[in-house]
Amino acid sequence: MKRAVIEPGSVLGVLGGGQLGAMFTLAALRLGYQVAAWDPHPEAPAHRVATHSFPFPFTDQQTLARFADLVSVVTYEWENIPAELCRSLEQRKPVRPSTAVLSVIQDRLEQKSFLSSHGFPVPSFAILTAPDQLAQTVRRVGYPALCKTATAGYDGKGQWRISRESDVREVERALSESARPGLRWIVEAFVPFERELSILVVRGSDGQSCTYPLVENEHDEGILRATKVPAQVSSGLAERAALLACQVVDRLEGVGVFCLELFQLPGGELLINEIAPRPHNSGHYTLDACSVSQFEQQVRATCGMPLGEVRLLSPAVMVNLIGEDAAAFVKGAGSRTLLAIPGAVLHLYGKPAIRPRRKMGHVTFLGETLALALDHAQQFRDRLAR
Ligand code: AMP
Repeated sequence: MKRAVIEPGSVLGVLGGGQLGAMFTLAALRLGYQVAAWDPHPEAPAHRVATHSFPFPFTDQQTLARFADLVSVVTYEWENIPAELCRSLEQRKPVRPSTAVLSVIQDRLEQKSFLSSHGFPVPSFAILTAPDQLAQTVRRVGYPALCKTATAGYDGKGQWRISRESDVREVERALSESARPGLRWIVEAFVPFERELSILVVRGSDGQSCTYPLVENEHDEGILRATKVPAQVSSGLAERAALLACQVVDRLEGVGVFCLELFQLPGGELLINEIAPRPHNSGHYTLDACSVSQFEQQVRATCGMPLGEVRLLSPAVMVNLIGEDAAAFVKGAGSRTLLAIPGAVLHLYGKPAIRPRRKMGHVTFLGETLALALDHAQQFRDRLAR
C-alpha cells in the first residue's frame, strides 16, 4: 500500500481546506486529478475549487465513510488535523505523510523529543504538565524563555514569553485559565537568533528527496510577514541546512513536503524551531519563482509520482497580506497599484471575512536581482503601512 502509484483521474483527499488546501487542489487539478476537500467550514477556500466538497465536522462518521470510499489517497494541509481521523482513514487508504509522522509532529513535545533524541539541534526545552510548576521548569531552561501549548498552537498562538522571574505569576495565571485535563506545555529557552530561516524538503515514497533553496523569514508577533529568496547566507550554511533537512525527514521516514523552520545563531549554528509536515507559507514563492511548486510536489509525493526537479527561476520576496493590511488593500485602489508594479504576482485567497491576524493573501515580488525584488516589496509595504 505504501508504494502505490495513484494515476491522474483518481480522486485525492485533502484534510483541511484553507489556502494551502486550495493551492494543493489547483496543482492537483492541473495534473489531471480530482480532489475531495474536507473542511468543516463551508467558506474554506478549497471548497471553491475542489471537485468534491465535504463541509462537515471531522468527527462525522458518515462523512468519514463517504470520503474514504471516494478517495484513492489522503493528504492534509496542516498538522492540527485530528490524528484519530487520519488513523481511521489510514486503515482504508494511504495517508501521506503517515499518521505516525503526523502524531510526532503535531505535539511540540513529541517533536522536540524526537529531534533531540536523534541528535538534531533544538533549543533547550522542558515539559510542563501543571501551571504551578512553571517557575521551577523555567529555571531548568533559564531566562528568558517561551512557554507554548504542546498541541494546537500556530502562528504564535498559545505562546507566552517569560523574560524574568517577575513574569512567571502572570503567565501561570494565563496557563491556569486555559488549562484542561491532559493539556501540556513546552518551555523553551528563548533563542537570541540572528536570522530566521526555513527550507522545504520533499521526500518520495522511494526515499528519494530534494530540497528547495534556503530562505529568510521575517516574523512579527509570531506570524510570518515576509520571505526573502534565497537567504543571503554563505553557501556552506545553505548546504548544512539542506543536509539537516534531508536527514530529519529521512529519520522520520516522511513522504510528502516538509518545511524546517530554523534559527541561525550569531556564530552560524543552526537550531530547528519546528517542522511542518506540509507545504508552508514561507514556500509560497515556489508558485511563481520555481520550476515546480511546493504544492505540485505535494501532489507528486502523495501520488507516488516522480518528484519534480527544483530550480529557482528568479529571486523573490513574498509578502503576506494579513488582517488589517489586507482590509486596507482590498478596499482601496491597492490591487491596481500593486498590479502595476513590475514583477508583482498577487494571490488573494477569497476568504469572505477579514479578521485581525488572518492571512488573506500574499504577493510575490519577482526581480532580476534580489535587490530589485526587495525594493519593490519595500515600496509596497510602505504603502500598506500608510
Ligand atoms: P512557532 O509557532 O513555534 O513557530 O513560533 C512563532 C515565532 O515565534 C517564531 O517564528 C519565532 O519568531 C518566535 N519563536 C518561537 N520559538 C522561539 C524561541 N525558542 N526563541 C526565540 N523566538 C522564538
